[in-house]
Amino acid sequence: MKNFKEKFNKFMDILFPPDIICIYCGEEIKHANKYHACDNCLQNLPYLNGKICKHCGTKLHSDSEICFLCYNQLPPFQIARSTFIYEMPIVSLVHKIKYGNARYLFKPLANFMTETYKQYAFDCDVIVPVPLSKERLKTRHYNQAEELAKVLGANLGLSIESNCIEKIKHTEKQSSLGYFDRIENIKNAYRLKDKKPLAGKRILLVDDVITTGETIKNVCKELWRAKPVSISVLSLAHTDFAKKPKATFIYKIKKLTLAKIQREIAFSKNKAKIRMKIKEFKDEEKKDK
Ligand SMILES: [Zn+2]
Ligand SMILES: [Zn+2]
Repeated sequence: MKNFKEKFNKFMDILFPPDIICIYCGEEIKHANKYHACDNCLQNLPYLNGKICKHCGTKLHSDSEICFLCYNQLPPFQIARSTFIYEMPIVSLVHKIKYGNARYLFKPLANFMTETYKQYAFDCDVIVPVPLSKERLKTRHYNQAEELAKVLGANLGLSIESNCIEKIKHTEKQSSLGYFDRIENIKNAYRLKDKKPLAGKRILLVDDVITTGETIKNVCKELWRAKPVSISVLSLAHTDFAKKPKATFIYKIKKLTLAKIQREIAFSKNKAKIRMKIKEFKDEEKKDK
């Protein structure tokens, strides 16, 4: 069946070459460009700009400078930036590169990421793609983060270190989990294999999508053991929680009692009480499933 699907996709690529048809909306491209996008999409894709968290780069909908996740705990990287908000049509394209073997999308998407790299004046020495577990690699045949990294590396003249860090725990798909389960799921999932190529370097960590940032944080935690000078993060897309009300539990915390929890975390020495609160939320979340 998979073979048929692949052949069918190839056949469709011949009928509708991806550089003539806009990869985002399917309309004809009148002015060829390196993003394989029609004029309308170039104008209207969900770019992640405007007010963003100065640390993790997530979209902000208030006057604060940082998001509430970074407020609670400073992230273990210098900055993270993303090209798009994770919404349509980007969601559909990410789905295609993850599950549809749509390799032709890597180049145009990474070309967009290259512009984001330049826009924020990243200055890195080496690219590290977020690794996949061996099990996942077996079924997917490639690591989408690594494929994006390869194009970025070629565009920016940076080397890629794909074998310095590995994913040692085959985890459930993060997208199927709630916020607190994500944290548990990804804990200790990565292991630094080779420190040498990263020591004293400015690392650019590359991933396709940042959701809660738990994956990135865990990878960074391991990468710091190699004693790099800095770690910056670049992803294709970043979830905007305010626009995805049902997506995670964070939204609920944010909407209902965020201010209260923040105050408690910031000022209270009573960690047990906070733990209780988190447990209450967790139970709430389970009820909702
Ligand atoms: Zn289009
Ligand atoms: Zn943030």
